[in-house]
Amino acid sequence: MNDLKRFVSEFDSRNKGIPPHFENDGDNTLRLDCPMCGFESVHHSGIAVIVDSVNIVRGSVVAIPMFCEDGCSFVLCHGFHKGGIYTWCIPVPKCLQWGFKPTA
Ligand SMILES: [Zn+2]
Repeated sequence: MNDLKRFVSEFDSRNKGIPPHFENDGDNTLRLDCPMCGFESVHHSGIAVIVDSVNIVRGSVVAIPMFCEDGCSFVLCHGFHKGGIYTWCIPVPKCLQWGFKPTA
């Protein structure tokens, strides 16, 4: 199991989870803002993974590592549980950023 999968599978949402914030851009799409500071410029920062077992939901979770241009790192998660898809964010502490930032 890689570091991202382990981080997501062991995460306890009751203590640290934060809801995503989407802004309606008026063009039938929603733009994700940084869930930590609200900045609108966020990027993918690595390869998404599928995590089979997490504390929050019983089904699998698609976990996408992200960062904002103001320095925050988080994981955007889409998880299945009892017929529903739930979306949440996990803030990533600076000491666990696993190279999420782009190298360029
Ligand atoms: Zn931010």
